[in-house]
Amino acid sequence: MAKMRITPARISLSPGPKADKDNLKTGCTSATQRPPSWADRLPLPPVQHDVAWLTKHWKPKERFETADQVRERRDKLVRLLENGENAARRVAKRLKRCKPQRRCGSGACPICGRRFRRWWVGEVLKLLSFTEITDGDNDAVVLSVTLVNRDHRRQAGQLHTLDLRKLIDQYRTQIKRAGLNVRFMVGAVDISFNIDGLKRWEPHWSPHLYLLVNGATSKAIREALERHLIADDAVPRPIRMRTVKNGVKAASYAWKSAFFQRNSFLDGLGRPNTWPYPMKPTQVRELMIYLDRYQPTDRLFLRNVRRHGWNLVPF
Ligand SMILES: [Zn+2]
Repeated sequence: MAKMRITPARISLSPGPKADKDNLKTGCTSATQRPPSWADRLPLPPVQHDVAWLTKHWKPKERFETADQVRERRDKLVRLLENGENAARRVAKRLKRCKPQRRCGSGACPICGRRFRRWWVGEVLKLLSFTEITDGDNDAVVLSVTLVNRDHRRQAGQLHTLDLRKLIDQYRTQIKRAGLNVRFMVGAVDISFNIDGLKRWEPHWSPHLYLLVNGATSKAIREALERHLIADDAVPRPIRMRTVKNGVKAASYAWKSAFFQRNSFLDGLGRPNTWPYPMKPTQVRELMIYLDRYQPTDRLFLRNVRRHGWNLVPF
């Protein structure tokens, strides 16, 4: 197995939302004067790796979001943000200005998010195409791994206190210190708002890291991370793993632009389970103000993979 390497510096996609700030300083605020953002420059993947084409004939629910759908989602989001506090209205203003060739680049924008996902899924599928996925619990399989650290929870209204970059760095350090060797690990942070139907714990934001891992067994991953990820009532299974059967689904799931409230309950056999519900407007506003502070790449976790131009390549 390849020797463990340190993941390279975080990808930076600029100028993005910060460019707007600079424009405000210089008085150049019109959409036509804004410089192109990363979302204008991001290349689309070839058809064989393009999730929009690959899922075209899937069931409507499983199909990749269409341009019309994300435009509708953006318009709905703008209305919801315009009904909120000043910070929410500022995000609404930015999303409203997102136009072809002058994309806003906000981490909260469904339109820019769709473009980013197409690029991301294309790059992950390319990585997976170098890998032979086989059955069985060995290090040849690609595993989907969901990690939840209870220290990252935040109460409603407190999401702004979570530093996304520190969260990623913490996982990176823990994986490195544990000496977990992998061929590659790629994924991203997702955030849900969790509510307990049995009222055993307070509702809270729950950030979780979703990874696709190749070159490590589930046993090795569990041994490396279990001392950091402690189970409790709110997260009975802080490490969840599955063998990836469908690379397209797994890759598109790894960086999501739709967010949910997750309600916990006990099923008929008394086992803990969760169900997704739409978020409440206050939750949507808090999350979008938060995501607007970041660029889509800030949510990414890469290990033994580096960016070369607009390509993610294993090293
Ligand atoms: Zn946008």
